Amino acid sequence: MRVLVTGGAGYIGSVVATRLLELGHTVTVLDDLSTGHADAVPPGATFVEGRVHDAAVALAGERFDGAVHLAASSLVAESIANPEKYRLNNVVGTRLLLDTLLASGVPAIVFSSTAAVYGEPETVPIDEDAPTRPVNPYGESKLAVDEMLAAEAATGRIGAVSLRYFNVAGAYAGRGERHDPETHLVPIALQAALGTRAGLVVYGEDYPTPDGTCVRDYIHVADLAEAHLGALASARPGTHRVFNLGNGAGFSVREVLAAVERVTGVTLEVTVAGRRAGDPAVLVASAARARRELGWTPARTSLEQMIADAWGVLRSGSDPR
Ligand code: UDP
Repeated sequence: MRVLVTGGAGYIGSVVATRLLELGHTVTVLDDLSTGHADAVPPGATFVEGRVHDAAVALAGERFDGAVHLAASSLVAESIANPEKYRLNNVVGTRLLLDTLLASGVPAIVFSSTAAVYGEPETVPIDEDAPTRPVNPYGESKLAVDEMLAAEAATGRIGAVSLRYFNVAGAYAGRGERHDPETHLVPIALQAALGTRAGLVVYGEDYPTPDGTCVRDYIHVADLAEAHLGALASARPGTHRVFNLGNGAGFSVREVLAAVERVTGVTLEVTVAGRRAGDPAVLVASAARARRELGWTPARTSLEQMIADAWGVLRSGSDPR
């Protein structure tokens, strides 16, 4: 297949692009490098630097058999401070990308949605029938795109799949998390272990959880990439399907930090602060539908393995190529 990967210079997108190439597909990456890194784009992919808004011009004349759309603004706190940026980049940008894809007859799109569309869940594990009540503009923007894709699929012109990720960790083929600023727990803890960051802060120890810290469901980036491949192969015109992606196991912030200490052999400098705005106490996925309908079987479910893979890449500081 000829596959377009938007956001293919980012953490998850570069792993998806790598796996597509490994399976013999032809890959074009569209990324504006606002948060991604050119050296994360796998060799063998055609790299087009540009925004999804400008896809009609940037990709003029190119034909694709499918698209994986990951390019987005994805910082919750920034979305609260600047909601219009999230509407412009995530909703308007996707609208314009979709118009380009529809005009050129692309039959299938896989979209990177998020657990943030569910907001504060009533029950866990969270399945796809849980109410969608995002509590920040980031989640709202992703939900708006899910709804846009459902409406487009209903016209019969395209098949769409929304993948709602829980917490992603690990590394694959030298590609790990490199956000600036970094806000995610695992890379922050690993940077603290490496000494490139002076300690870290736990945001809240007064949640209604066994140890008082937030519980999250961590999934290996390589397993996440496999779900994208399965979703792309299964997308059928006229359908929009939604899948939650996680391992169904929750780990508290304290448990993650203990695992980081075991993997790295470093005792972390940890201070405790108040809660971070917008953090639900517990987010754990039910991925039963993805297992059933996509035949998706995550192979790297050990939290320590995810942390070890991320640590290996961070410590080597190697160029991903
Ligand atoms: N967290 C923390 N300290 C940090 C970063 C994150 O205590 O420096 C907590 C955060 O409050 C949340 C969990 O770790 O409960 C996971 O946060 P992350 O940003 O990695 O992912 P999110 O669940 O927000 O998508």
